[in-house]
Amino acid sequence: MALEDYRNDMEGCSRCSSCKWVPYNQIKSWRFAKNCPSVVRHNFHSYSGSGRMITGHSILLGRSELNDDVADMIYKCQMCGACDAACKVYRDDIDLTEVLLELRAHCVESGSLIVEHMMMLDALKAEDNVMGEPKAKRGEWAEGLAAKDINTETAEVMFHAGCRYSYDEELRPTVRGAVQMMLAAGVDVGIAGKEESCCGARIYELGYRGEAANYADDLVSRVKASGAKTLVTPCSDGYAALKFLYPRMGKDLGCEVMHVSQFLGRLVDEGRLRPRNEVPLSVTWHDPCHLGRMGEPFLGDWAGDKLERPMSMKRAGKKGVYDAPRDVLASIPGVELIEMERIREYSWCCGAGGGVYEAYPEFAVWAARERLDEAAATGAEALVTACPWCERVFRDAAAESGSSLEIYDLADILLKSL
Ligand code: SF4
Ligand code: SF4
Repeated sequence: MALEDYRNDMEGCSRCSSCKWVPYNQIKSWRFAKNCPSVVRHNFHSYSGSGRMITGHSILLGRSELNDDVADMIYKCQMCGACDAACKVYRDDIDLTEVLLELRAHCVESGSLIVEHMMMLDALKAEDNVMGEPKAKRGEWAEGLAAKDINTETAEVMFHAGCRYSYDEELRPTVRGAVQMMLAAGVDVGIAGKEESCCGARIYELGYRGEAANYADDLVSRVKASGAKTLVTPCSDGYAALKFLYPRMGKDLGCEVMHVSQFLGRLVDEGRLRPRNEVPLSVTWHDPCHLGRMGEPFLGDWAGDKLERPMSMKRAGKKGVYDAPRDVLASIPGVELIEMERIREYSWCCGAGGGVYEAYPEFAVWAARERLDEAAATGAEALVTACPWCERVFRDAAAESGSSLEIYDLADILLKSL
């Protein structure tokens, strides 16, 4: 694909600015009515979904130059999909997220690169992870666990921890806990340990499609060699890649793909995990963008004219994972869920996505603080989510702001109840 393939989307934008807001019939207060961290933070139309489409159109027609300032504006976006979900309430002929992805790919092709992203790519090429940590340490999070080594044995379920959970020492207990619960439930689970590599999700969103495809090939071959019938990941970014980007790139994993919140929910439903212990806690749930609206399954290529592609085959956010984590919370005695105002496909992003955490950390933490304010307004004691990138930036923001909200992963809360 190329920018030219999205000419109709860009020219079709009516500049109504609905992509900057939670859909009007979903708004509960002025305070939490906006949906785009980028345009709220920078307060200039170019930083909205619509503004980026106008910029892309201008570049396509040769009216604008793709210089460093324009690239900077293009990348100050979390790729959260909120603009797209809002636009699709009113329009069925614009695929906004696709335009944003194409714009980034165009930046890479044109050599308009962000230094921090280039550094991340270099680190990835050297160590196979976006954290720039030594590859040899990747499996340390699982030391002492009785999970199988899928490099030498087959397993029914393969657990792909992802880059951040593998290296972020504060978050490692979450994935250890998730695997411990799977083992306790009798699941035949294996991991790749230090041989696990990045899934390629982050660099795809940065526009480095060729490199992302290479990492996808690596994971596909590893899954196939493991014999796994189900691939489980605790990372929401990874989940969206496996569920949407891989099939779209033509990479067939040949197995069921589940986020760990879904898999643990299945174990609870089957009675293989029984939450018995009281966890007296009022919580609010943050829908990670890449588990929710960006985590919709890819529904196949459309052979007809792009403008005729049926709405049911477009990413509009409704088919993301929203109920499974809420059902797990509901199964835990003592837990009370109090919803925020912006939820499900209209959630406010944590701030960390799309390469923002790496290149513009202050902007990422600002967006996370906005979400913490919304969470605190519910009166809940804790914010619970299921994505290492969300948890990392929420913890950073809470430390900076002095927020008293406790931050948990869903697996942490479930483990307390067993
Ligand atoms: S992208 Fe969609 S919602 Fe935004 S201004 Fe254009 S038509 Fe309106
Ligand atoms: S993807 Fe998110 S941050 Fe980027 S323009 Fe859309 S709503 Fe704003």
